[in-house]
Amino acid sequence: MNTPAPVRAAVLEEIGAAGPYARSRPLRVRELELAPPGPGELLVRIRAAGLCHSDLSVVNGDRPRPVPMVLGHEAAGEVVALGPGTEERFSAGDHVVLYFVAPCGGCPRCLEGRPALCERGAAANNAGDLVGGGRRWRDAQGGQPAHHLGVSAFAEYTVVSADSAVRVDADLPFEVAALFGCAVLTGVGAALKAAEVRPGERVAVFGLGGVGLSALLGANVAGAAQIVGVDPVAAKRELAGRLGATDRLSGGPDAVEAVRELTGGGADKVVDTTGSAEVLAQAYLAARPGGTTVTVGLPHPDRHVSLPAVTLAAQERTLRGSYLGSGVPARDIPAYIALYRRGLLPVTELLSGRLRLDEVNEGFDRLASGEAVRQVVEL
Ligand SMILES: [Zn+2]
Ligand SMILES: [Zn+2]
Repeated sequence: MNTPAPVRAAVLEEIGAAGPYARSRPLRVRELELAPPGPGELLVRIRAAGLCHSDLSVVNGDRPRPVPMVLGHEAAGEVVALGPGTEERFSAGDHVVLYFVAPCGGCPRCLEGRPALCERGAAANNAGDLVGGGRRWRDAQGGQPAHHLGVSAFAEYTVVSADSAVRVDADLPFEVAALFGCAVLTGVGAALKAAEVRPGERVAVFGLGGVGLSALLGANVAGAAQIVGVDPVAAKRELAGRLGATDRLSGGPDAVEAVRELTGGGADKVVDTTGSAEVLAQAYLAARPGGTTVTVGLPHPDRHVSLPAVTLAAQERTLRGSYLGSGVPARDIPAYIALYRRGLLPVTELLSGRLRLDEVNEGFDRLASGEAVRQVVEL
């Protein structure tokens, strides 16, 4: 079939490399073969791919995954070829946003209406396979590099399950469209679907990267009366102020007390995006009695969180996790794009840099240092 070969891809060779990555270069751009799309799959030409903290967590070992792996999971591109059975839903030339759990549609969690928790999708992602089984990448030595979360966006072309692609209007710029696949879906979903922010509520957001700022934008859309943004990086706090944060804090040991003071006893809803177990504990305590704390952070699997246990019952607190926006991506991504088009989700403000594929290592240094919000590889 019309699979281009070879395909240039940024491959993570080993996890846990020491920084700076500009020197250790854990990601190497290599030429790989890509098998044609199988049943239910699409060949997609990637046009824009965002650098997300979850990619960095694979690079630094916080989120162990099989390697070598073609990294990247936040992307937009163009459908190039259709696998059998996808012709009714997609056409060549369609612009698509990819998302990072391909739901099988038939497991208990899918049937429950929670595709983010799809059992087959999660198993495939953990194995570095596609949900259709196996891998489509092949290197010159006959090895088969892993897929990253069914997407593998840091490549000129990729093969994905059609169930992890959503068609979008062709006039939406690719670098904007890509953000809806992870940062916006995760952050806005955390605020709207998981925390269920209501008009007039007081909200705090811990961590003001791409996901945290998206949560802030989601809280704005929901009509929050107060939004406290917490981040140690001054430039991010400043951006949060432009995007609607009413109060800003630098975090640290006094963060809980400071949020309580600003909100008159604790926020109604708190969103933690930091991936730090210690900050998650702060986010929990920064909510008022009866309040809800939502976390989208993904700390290392060995990390535990310590909370004053009695407060859950005695103060009727809620602590919940949120993955993939706690909704239905195929429905939510177009809905959030519609909000963007109305000017209610100014996500272009999150874009802090554009990179070439061979600059991803430098990009991850900027992400790790806190200098960058959302950098996008243009392909
Ligand atoms: Zn992500
Ligand atoms: Zn499923």
